[in-house]
Amino acid sequence: MADLTELYQSIILDHNRRPRNYGELPDADRRAEGRNPLCGDTVAVYVKLDGDRIAAVRFTGQGCAISKASASLMTAAVSGHSVSDADALFEKVHDMMLGKASGDDLGSLRALQGVSRFPVRVKCASLAWHALRNALHAEAAQAPVAQTE
Ligand code: ZN
Repeated sequence: MADLTELYQSIILDHNRRPRNYGELPDADRRAEGRNPLCGDTVAVYVKLDGDRIAAVRFTGQGCAISKASASLMTAAVSGHSVSDADALFEKVHDMMLGKASGDDLGSLRALQGVSRFPVRVKCASLAWHALRNALHAEAAQAPVAQTE
């Protein structure tokens, strides 16, 4: 078990140090921000959709290692997947963070499981995921999407 904890810590540290998909996405058609006042974390998530598929997803933000690593892991996990896949993954990851599910099938996302023992940290780890969901399901007026007929 100790080895597993070390592995998960190294995943968090790696994604914090070298966040994947970090930076603005100039041609994004969805964008949402999140803020966690308890810790001071902020995140903005940018999504480019290709029909029902997440063609590209990037993030910017400031915050603790957990919030940044979680955002990085999130972008890597949902990029190229459908919106409904991302929604399903959100539910699984959220349940894991709350200690309601093991997350056994979530691969490197299991690195976020440790936050379930620290309720304050759940806010850090779930911030980018909530922003993603808001970006994907924002009102059209707020986040217009180019429709091609
Ligand atoms: Zn935080």
